[in-house]
Amino acid sequence: MIGWLFRRAQESRISLSNTLTKKVERFEPLQRGVVSMYSCGPTVYNVPHIGNLRALIVPDLVRRVFEYAGYRVRSVMNITDFGHLVGDGDQGEDKMLIGLRREGLAPTMENMLALAGRFAEAYKEDARALNVLPPFAMPRASEHVPTMIAYIEKLLTKGYAYPLPDGIYFDTRAFPKYGTLGGAASAEHSRIGVIEGKRDPRDFALWKFSPENGWDAPWGKGFPGWHIECTAMSTEYLGESFDIHTGGVDHIAVHHNNELAQAEAANARPYARFWLHNEFLTIDGKKISKSLGNDVTLADLAARGIHPLALRYWLLTGHYRQQMNFTWEAVEGAEHALKRAWKVFARLPEGGRPDPAYLARFRQFLFDDIDTPKATALMWELIKDERVSPESLRATLLDFDRVFAIGFSSGAARTEREPAVVPEAVRALLAERGKARETKDFTTADTLRRDIEELGYSVTDGPDGQVVSRR
Ligand code: AMP
Ligand code: ZN
Repeated sequence: MIGWLFRRAQESRISLSNTLTKKVERFEPLQRGVVSMYSCGPTVYNVPHIGNLRALIVPDLVRRVFEYAGYRVRSVMNITDFGHLVGDGDQGEDKMLIGLRREGLAPTMENMLALAGRFAEAYKEDARALNVLPPFAMPRASEHVPTMIAYIEKLLTKGYAYPLPDGIYFDTRAFPKYGTLGGAASAEHSRIGVIEGKRDPRDFALWKFSPENGWDAPWGKGFPGWHIECTAMSTEYLGESFDIHTGGVDHIAVHHNNELAQAEAANARPYARFWLHNEFLTIDGKKISKSLGNDVTLADLAARGIHPLALRYWLLTGHYRQQMNFTWEAVEGAEHALKRAWKVFARLPEGGRPDPAYLARFRQFLFDDIDTPKATALMWELIKDERVSPESLRATLLDFDRVFAIGFSSGAARTEREPAVVPEAVRALLAERGKARETKDFTTADTLRRDIEELGYSVTDGPDGQVVSRR
């Protein structure tokens, strides 16, 4: 009884920033003790970059915070394996077709699904490396087409959709609430002239005809639109109304307004109650993308000897609703700090209990819209607090790690050795010195050696090139 009361008390203290109401609101689930949560997942046409990985880590954090508070979480993340056009409107090429062309494969259904399988695995592998828990379900769009067709039929019957020569369209004027999540007025909707016959620029495709490829439907062979995928899969797994919907901020204006309109028009009841959106990860202030050539991956981190959990830890030092700008120095600094914490942890004796005062503050921060910057700062305050016994410090760090998942409980802290973290500035000087030596410009090479030494490193020339160490 007391345990139950305690859990209830904790559960009801969580507040979240809700895009739907533009307010931070106290969370109450539809069903006592259970949270239903849908996250827009990846389109699997490419190896994930670290921006995509932020979009995996944020829902994982939300789920862990609720589990920490005593809820059961039914978390669902879809895998889009067709139908996601480059533009959020109805323009551009399907991202999966771009993937096929890049790999030199013919645009057949078979090739598309094989490509999707390969990159879905790449996502899962990265998720494991980042301690992202597997969601309760990861439905694939291609395996849920009958549910999407049923939705489109319902929308046609209820007068929310109309056919055009190239597909079936959602009629936004028939749904006056359209755009409640915001951003729709300025969003990238396809212009009316682009698709002949559209009644409103905001109308969007529910189905695109394609005589050669796709699925059979009562109105003709083709592909469901990207937006109907999420409406169909979320409600199939979580019911017509559920608690939380997450995704990147890029989805608010079009994809999420469209998802909401489809669901509420078809079912005549509220769709997701809380909408949580994570901000972007940028590099040099620009969104990460392949076309800009700034798509850093976990493999790039590994090539520099950076542990994947350093990325997770670094992301935790920012708030999910704030943009973060990636730099190598920032992540290397985060790794340095994390490994220092691991070293401390590895020396701590077992047998203590978590410190109640620190646990209370930890909960307070996380239950207040998942304030991980404050929670990670608290971890350092705890580590430095000499009033906390070593046994209790260990137990408290392990408790924090139920949400952080940065290696204390998974063993990383016990096995990692101190890394050779070489700052970017030193690496740049080393590269320059390498070039000077290749051209036998030993004067410049010597000057650069002194510059490197001034930064606290020394360099020797071995048979395999330069060897750098801390002075
Ligand atoms: P996509 O492959 O474009 O469907 O993107 C997959 C997920 O990654 C979506 O939820 C996007 O919101 C998210 N995403 C893409 N780029 C970034 C970025 N630079 N920072 C954070 N999230 C991103
Ligand atoms: Zn979605």
